[in-house]
Amino acid sequence: MYFELTEEQRMYQEAVRDFCDRELAPYATQVDQTGEMRWEAIRKMPQLGLTGLQVSEDYGGAGLDSISAAIAIEEVGRACGSTGLSLAAHNGLCCFPINRWGTTDQKQKYLPRLTSGEVLGALALTEPNAGSDLVGGVRTSAVKEGDSWIIDGHKAWITNPKYAPVIITLTRTDKNAGAKGFCMLLVEPQYEGVTVHHPEKKMGLKASPTQQITYDNVRVPIIEGTLGEEGKGFHQTMETLDGGRISIGALSVGLAQAAFEAAMKYAAEREAFGGKITQFQAIQWMIADAALEIEAARLMVYRAAWLKDQGKNFTKEAAMAKLMASEVAEKVSFNAIQIHGSYGYSQEFPVERIYRDQRLMTIGEGTSQIQRLVIARRVLQEYGLG
Ligand SMILES: Cc1cc2nc3c(=O)[nH]c(=O)nc-3n(C[C@H](O)[C@H](O)[C@H](O)COP(=O)(O)OP(=O)(O)OC[C@H]3O[C@@H](n4cnc5c(N)ncnc54)[C@H](O)[C@@H]3O)c2cc1C
Repeated sequence: MYFELTEEQRMYQEAVRDFCDRELAPYATQVDQTGEMRWEAIRKMPQLGLTGLQVSEDYGGAGLDSISAAIAIEEVGRACGSTGLSLAAHNGLCCFPINRWGTTDQKQKYLPRLTSGEVLGALALTEPNAGSDLVGGVRTSAVKEGDSWIIDGHKAWITNPKYAPVIITLTRTDKNAGAKGFCMLLVEPQYEGVTVHHPEKKMGLKASPTQQITYDNVRVPIIEGTLGEEGKGFHQTMETLDGGRISIGALSVGLAQAAFEAAMKYAAEREAFGGKITQFQAIQWMIADAALEIEAARLMVYRAAWLKDQGKNFTKEAAMAKLMASEVAEKVSFNAIQIHGSYGYSQEFPVERIYRDQRLMTIGEGTSQIQRLVIARRVLQEYGLG
């Protein structure tokens, strides 16, 4: 299969890269050190559709195809990991479900604000005792009382709640119905009983807020607050994560690309044994492997995105792309530090930050072990063995 970006996709890539080189990359160290995102840049993002990548234009989005959306997340990730993760979660985990399953009223209420560049949205699935195993572990419950849901529970490790006008919350509405007993609810942080806790102190992605949320007798109106069909919450979660994995794959490619470029720049300047270190075959092999693996990961991300746009099933391909890209980011940024020697271990050079930032990619939106599980199940089915 011959593959090339379309003229439109290429031009969009150039425009986003130019924006990120000006507005994000020069501030990435500062953002990491202060733990605060650069809102001055985020407010300008709607001009390029970055805060509503696949939201329809009627609601202030860019209505882009999935390859362009992946390109955008890759470029933001190449410039700043924290901004990349928050933007990926905003687009893939919050805007997507509202755009996909929201009623016209819900879309009108939330999407124009979400795409405005003034806020970032959130999706709360994970709990202190439920990550990979949501069906077995989710305890956050919603029960009907009159015309409202009453939510009680606790979510953990949630990206963006501090900035979110709405937190989509996965709740268990029927504890005897297994995967069919879930519902996605639209919870506004100012509702009585919602507490958004302080951001966690993390290894990397320090400016992307990761927070716990407590729900204490929170009342959500049934008609306005139910996203999609009752009982379909788990199914919606799986569909959302399929798309989210393309996004985390793209973010991983962006982080790997940034580490690769920094390593090449350093290698071209550093001298040892009477010449540039680029003369050593050991360094050249690391450069060759990085170039090869980044390209392979990027193509896998594009393929999963292309399948999504064709309306074909892309669960296996999204899991493969996320798994491959996140493991490539780990290896490339590890070797980028190696190429820098001691300087790679210093905060003076960006590879130290990139290495910390990329570490999340094999964990968030399904660990590498879970991706392998998803892939194995699909492959066994394809061979009539599962
Ligand atoms: C920075 C950050 C941002 C995040 N953002 C969000 C967000 O916005 N929204 C949200 O809902 N969540 C978010 N998360 C949570 C994240 O998605 C979960 O942490 C992740 O899915 C793993 O869940 P867990 O931590 O409970 O690990 P566990 O499920 O407890 O897994 C622990 C270990 O056991 C392994 N394991 C578990 N089950 C199996 C199995 N069946 N087979 C083999 N191995 C297995 C795992 O791979 C892992 O190695 C975020 C997390 C972080 C760190």
